[in-house]
Amino acid sequence: MSFGSSLILRHRAVAAAAAPLPVFSNIIRRFSIAARQRNPNNVSKRLQERQAPNKNLLKAKERFKDYSSLAPVLSRDDHPPLSESQAIGLVAASHANIMRVIVPSLPSSEASDEGLEQSSSSARIELLCFVRNLLKKIKRRVMVGDKVLVGSIDWVDRRGMIENVFERNSEILDPPVANVDHLLVFFSLEQPKLEPFSLTRFLVEAESTGLPVTLALNKTELVDKETLGSWKSRLRSWGYEPLFCSVESGHGIDLLAFKLRDLTTVIVGPSGVGKSSLINALRSKNNPVSNGTDEDNWFEPILGSKLFESQRVGEVSTRSGRGRHTTRNVSLLPLSGGGFIADTPGFNQPSLLKVTKQSLAQTFPEIRKMLSANEPAKCSFNNCLHLGEPGCIVKGDWERYQYYFQLVDEIRIREEFQLRTFGTKREGDIRYKVGDMGVQKAEPRLEPKKHRRQSRKRINQSLLDELEEELDDDDNLLDEESDPVLRALKNEDP
Ligand code: GDP
Ligand code: ZN
Repeated sequence: MSFGSSLILRHRAVAAAAAPLPVFSNIIRRFSIAARQRNPNNVSKRLQERQAPNKNLLKAKERFKDYSSLAPVLSRDDHPPLSESQAIGLVAASHANIMRVIVPSLPSSEASDEGLEQSSSSARIELLCFVRNLLKKIKRRVMVGDKVLVGSIDWVDRRGMIENVFERNSEILDPPVANVDHLLVFFSLEQPKLEPFSLTRFLVEAESTGLPVTLALNKTELVDKETLGSWKSRLRSWGYEPLFCSVESGHGIDLLAFKLRDLTTVIVGPSGVGKSSLINALRSKNNPVSNGTDEDNWFEPILGSKLFESQRVGEVSTRSGRGRHTTRNVSLLPLSGGGFIADTPGFNQPSLLKVTKQSLAQTFPEIRKMLSANEPAKCSFNNCLHLGEPGCIVKGDWERYQYYFQLVDEIRIREEFQLRTFGTKREGDIRYKVGDMGVQKAEPRLEPKKHRRQSRKRINQSLLDELEEELDDDDNLLDEESDPVLRALKNEDP
């Protein structure tokens, strides 16, 4: 299975934050409750304070401490009072410990922290930021898409330090982006030809995040009206209302721009369908929804920009065969009509690694519809997989039923493989031995030596691959001391 081109999407509702890491999620929740208790809703009072001239910076620093030094996760409703060297921003890109953060360029007393998404592009600038050590120590990850509190800002050199992170609305992994509102599944009708099973895989992966999904089909000018019409009714029967467009002719692009307006969208789809072309079109100032500002110049080149560019086409990890920096370095690009789009180079094959046999059904609108139409009636079995079990509500008279079957099978095989590879007990690995006094004792079945060695090797390899994934994921937790680029950048500071 290629992790390299995999697309693992996961959405976490705030309430279910960090499901796989319950301890951490508790800490986050506790932190945020504590943060709220410390910061009762006296927003208007604080606004007044912000407008008042700040005469005693030292005293002010005491107040700021709550938001930066103690470092709880900030609630999304928090409006921390900002000093002149602080701002609230959006992480647009990351490489190891360095992040590009978009902040309002107005002095903090005039800029609204809520207004970043809406503020005109000319009023935004980019800062090159390190993540504060304390955040790394408590393993608080900063992701692209995060709303962050930046401090120690040098407005001339455009540097800052990320001091705190606001709570996330959502989080998807691979591409790792926080606060995503919307997924755009983008395919072409021709060149490459629309392939229903491939489309289904992308839709399933997108649906598995729980986020709203839009399906758009490009290159309409390459097919005739009949083909368009038949795809339209076919996709409607799947539960989707597809948008048809042609980046080449411009047809449908304004509607798409309108759909994406003021949202953070992740675009996914196979290569060659026109994703980059669409992103360019949506970013161009000729776009009808554009606010007319000069988007191409909305950020000025800053130290480090080159670093990001060159990493794009960077080295390829020999072990996983994946271009480490080509696939992982997702960045948020501002759209001329407002909002952001995550550019996801190299995410071509949904791996469905986060979809389980049980959760798969919920990623098919057809099944969701059948289940809800029959409510309160339910399938006879609680954990029904809807594969024709007796008393199953889901009938088989829909086009993608065969794909559903096929995917259940694929996921079943993967789940079994995972159980075996990662050492979870399975009946066949255990044998029973009659011990002293006739008591049966269970112990691991010993495999022939050669085979065992092979299997260890395989397990080690899997662990190494996993570890490598982790390292990639935790790029931004790396220590500055061990990264030559970061060291060099740091040494530049006085
Ligand atoms: P990506 O791999 O999904 O990012 O696709 P690209 O944006 O690189 O586009 C792949 C090819 O499709 C390029 O040659 C584009 O010029 C072409 N292309 C993009 N949009 C359209 C379209 O609407 N119609 C046609 N005929 N070609 C298109
Ligand atoms: Zn069922």
